[in-house]
Amino acid sequence: MDDEKTETCAYCREKRPLSELKKGKIIFQNSKFQFGRWVKFVDEKTNWYCADKPCAAYDQMAHEG
Ligand SMILES: [Zn+2]
Repeated sequence: MDDEKTETCAYCREKRPLSELKKGKIIFQNSKFQFGRWVKFVDEKTNWYCADKPCAAYDQMAHEG
């Protein structure tokens, strides 16, 4: 039985075993409602990406305006 854990790449949505993935931190601009108005702030999140493809770099680019 194959019990290796799988995760989905945050960019290409491919489901792969963890051994073929790597964690990547994405920094992006987000906004929150605070003190009665929308305030922009820099947010970050960590996702899984394919280790053999530049998915992490592409996703970071997709988050930059
Ligand atoms: Zn991918």
